[in-house]
Amino acid sequence: MDYQAILEEIATEIKPYIGQGKVADYIPALAEVDAQQFGMALTLFDGTQYSVGVADTPFSIQSISKVFTFTLALDAYGFELYKRVGREPSGNPFNSLVQLEYEQGVPRNPFINAGAINVTDALISHFGSPAKASKEILAFIRMIADNGTIESDKEVTESEMLHGYRNRALANLMKSFGNLDNDILDVVQTYFEHCAIVMNAQSLSRAMLYLANHGTDPISQQQFITPQQAKRINAVMLTCGHYDASGDFAFHVGLPGKSGVGGGIVAVIPKTMGVCVWSPALNAQGNSLAGTKALELFTNKTGISIF
Ligand code: GLN
Repeated sequence: MDYQAILEEIATEIKPYIGQGKVADYIPALAEVDAQQFGMALTLFDGTQYSVGVADTPFSIQSISKVFTFTLALDAYGFELYKRVGREPSGNPFNSLVQLEYEQGVPRNPFINAGAINVTDALISHFGSPAKASKEILAFIRMIADNGTIESDKEVTESEMLHGYRNRALANLMKSFGNLDNDILDVVQTYFEHCAIVMNAQSLSRAMLYLANHGTDPISQQQFITPQQAKRINAVMLTCGHYDASGDFAFHVGLPGKSGVGGGIVAVIPKTMGVCVWSPALNAQGNSLAGTKALELFTNKTGISIF
């Protein structure tokens, strides 16, 4: 298949959608990002990469990092992890407090904010300190992306520390139900640090390969998680990766995917490739509007999806 030609067709057809929607201005450090950008990349199992647009421009990965922390927490805790966080779609916005109160401080899944904050708490306990957890999360991401230069942006973390009232509220609510072990500010700071990691679409498409290949990096042959765990992460990405638009994403795109409010979306094509698209303006559910459309065009044009 001529992937380069398909990506170029997508870049042309996507133009009317670029800039539609709204950048995530609730994080002031992200409000200044130029909405008129689009980049898309894919990486095959032999490392061959195809890309179009600004696929090498770094952006804030935000909630895409939740895939990596979920992976690390599953590796550390196995099935025990599901005592503190569920695996059902929430049908609610990513930062909602309502369901968490009804369900006694146990978040529905690891991809809504409450669930990801809880997973970060589990990683702090496992690794022994917030600093060690941040270090291990970054080291894991560098390894799966095969890129030792990846960093977290301090300005974005600071910006969320100053404005992240809802995330603090979620942490407080879980703490009140006895479902958070560590200090609230330490947990949210560590959570913001991994959300503030900066990567480009090329690196992120490379980083998805272990999930397309049953938990083992097809290039380095390193196994990060078991095939069953990889299957489950993909299942949770499909059912919960786009919050209250997860059904819509499965309907239109038909791939396990995870979005972030930085405008990135990663997707997994089992046994074939990792994909990442980036365009900063978001739809009402906080997912890249042009990015979602581009992935729909990709699965339609290639005829590849999990269905
Ligand atoms: N750091 C962001 C937040 O907590 C992540 C949200 C997202 O990307 N959906 O609000």
